[in-house]
Amino acid sequence: MNGAAKPCPICGEPADVLFKPFCSKRCTQIDLHRWFGENYRIETGEAPDDPAPPNRDEE
Ligand SMILES: [Zn+2]
Repeated sequence: MNGAAKPCPICGEPADVLFKPFCSKRCTQIDLHRWFGENYRIETGEAPDDPAPPNRDEE
């Protein structure tokens, strides 16, 4: 271990070498979604008020 690992910026867990700087694939995707969401909002110039999600929480 080289002790240089920073905590996951999403949840604060220790980062995983496979997903750094995140701790898991899930957190990498959360970050991606955030980023994409911001871009999208800027492009449209308005914040959508949580439109009905197409996928039914099937997780
Ligand atoms: Zn995380």
